[in-house]
Amino acid sequence: MNNTYYGKLIFELSQEGRCGYTLPKNELKEFELSALPSQLLRVNEPELPQVDELTVVRHYTNMSNNNFGVDTGFYPLGSCTMKYNPKIDEEIAAHRDFAVLHPWQPIDTVQGALAVYHGLQESLSEIAGMSEFTLNPFAGAHGELTGLMVMRSYHMSRGDDKRVKVIVPDSAHGTNPASAAVCGLEVVQVKSLPDGTVDVEDLRPLLDDTVAGMMMTNPNTLGIFEQRIAEIAALVHDCGGLMYYDGANLNPLLGRCRPGDLGFDIMHINLHKTFSTPHGGGGPGSGPVGVRQGLEQFLPNPRVTKNDEGFYDINFTDESLGSISGFLGNFGVILRAYAYILTLGCENLKMVGPLATLNANYVKESLKDCYELPIEGVCKHEFVFDGLKDKSSGVTTLDVAKRLLDYGFHAPTIYFPLLFHQALMIEPTENESRETLDGFIEVMRTIACEAHDNPDMVKGAPHHTPVRRLDDTQAALHPIVTFKELAQ
Ligand SMILES: *Cc1c(COP(=O)(O)O)cnc(C)c1O
Repeated sequence: MNNTYYGKLIFELSQEGRCGYTLPKNELKEFELSALPSQLLRVNEPELPQVDELTVVRHYTNMSNNNFGVDTGFYPLGSCTMKYNPKIDEEIAAHRDFAVLHPWQPIDTVQGALAVYHGLQESLSEIAGMSEFTLNPFAGAHGELTGLMVMRSYHMSRGDDKRVKVIVPDSAHGTNPASAAVCGLEVVQVKSLPDGTVDVEDLRPLLDDTVAGMMMTNPNTLGIFEQRIAEIAALVHDCGGLMYYDGANLNPLLGRCRPGDLGFDIMHINLHKTFSTPHGGGGPGSGPVGVRQGLEQFLPNPRVTKNDEGFYDINFTDESLGSISGFLGNFGVILRAYAYILTLGCENLKMVGPLATLNANYVKESLKDCYELPIEGVCKHEFVFDGLKDKSSGVTTLDVAKRLLDYGFHAPTIYFPLLFHQALMIEPTENESRETLDGFIEVMRTIACEAHDNPDMVKGAPHHTPVRRLDDTQAALHPIVTFKELAQ
């Protein structure tokens, strides 16, 4: 891989006078040029890299080969992982007839797009057991904020302004307490039991008339199904609070069990995890929010409705909490999700959960003699190890994660949830083949042996990646995102 182009920035490959393109001749007449406002005219040549065609092609091809994604290898990132992203959904989302739509077009010219929006709203309502969905939020966390705003609007509409607390389990995804705080609510943590589920006895004393609601994930971030969910929902409802479901990872429940039937009032789904949009690099995303009957009027503006003649309309209402995004959200993501649901159909959607569960349990059982399994028993779509079983060599979860990169695997989620010091959270997803899982298991076992026989080598990993171990803290605090000469 060590060649002229490798690891260089395009500016460093620049050579005075090199050129790899021909622009059409400037055919503007002098009087046409003078019609352009002078502040829009370029005075100096732009400082672009001067490179020949082959250099450009090789530079970007080499760079793209440094990318790791679901198209290059196994990606067992627990909790936030991408599930299945069929290529047909990409094609549909990129279809010209959708791609050229403009949000300001007259409504009778976008009936097809609104039918997609409305169809997905209805499908998600059916899948989740909710009354209505908005597809406007741009991400999971954005959905949480929207859902909590619905919760607040509901309490306010009843003149109940004492409710300022949101209960969040200590195993929750970090966005839960963050969204509650952004919404101006106070976060109260409830403890988990050693088996990873919510401690109902710790919850009871927290419940009073200052509680706006409780946020939960089920199966929780440890991949454990909260068996006492009906009891928890009844307790929260009895004190006047609402139940919020974090459905970012809905794959373990799909077609088998509905959050609405478990007692949840408000929820979000991450289309960019469970419903086919790839989300590496931070986007695009979509975090639809669903509500049970009686809360629909608080959903954000605008809402898409269908009248008796089959005409789709866009509505703004006064009771709504207001607008939380431009227009109707990320339409490309909405398209992919709808295509995904329609291509899988009811029967196949029902297979997603069992396959995700089977794969997770297969990997867990195959590795639990080498890695510490703090919570025994059947998991759902994911599970957590607490580092290596034999910790005597001092090899940490971070070292294992870095060593995996040398073998061409993406690392699992590490050091989350915070309940375990050496958390290694693995989610294989539903669509990986037996051979891929066996390959991963073999490598994880090899690393456990290496940690014993040659711990320093594992602590120095990765050894075969384009860059070695990075300083995560400095990278987060002082990211350099421009070409170095410009950055100075
Ligand atoms: C990913 C995730 C979120 C947040 O979703 P974003 O789209 O990243 O904002 C929330 N909760 C859980 C459980 C998640 O896995």
